[in-house]
Amino acid sequence: MTTIFHKIIQREIPADIVFEDDHVIAFRDIAPQAPVHVLFVPKQDFATLNDVPTDAPEIIGRLAVAAARYAKEQGFADDGYRIVMNCNEHGGQTVFQIHLHLLAGAQLGRFGT
Ligand code: 5GP
Repeated sequence: MTTIFHKIIQREIPADIVFEDDHVIAFRDIAPQAPVHVLFVPKQDFATLNDVPTDAPEIIGRLAVAAARYAKEQGFADDGYRIVMNCNEHGGQTVFQIHLHLLAGAQLGRFGT
């Protein structure tokens, strides 16, 4: 399935890209929920976390490591940040290409229902 994120990866639509390597692309969320809100997206195609093969945990690991590296480079790693991955309807997922949200830049509230 082609999503808006695939179109960003293919440069078919613009995005504010802050990081890219062979496996991961990261760009600012169009509707930020915190002063810093960046999405880390694998270039491999997986609709949800449920679709990531159990023998390929590096796909998720790369997203988290890229987010942590970005936090360090941008100078907010010590203050702290949150990474979140929503899955399917109850998780609030709206774009069905897996992605990790990095939220930072302010004291974040607790989460839940
Ligand atoms: P989800 O709800 O699936 O966990 O997160 C999807 C995120 O993608 C949302 O935070 C939403 O604001 C963001 N988003 C949706 N469309 C676009 C877009 O065209 N460009 C960018 N940069 N972000 C988008």
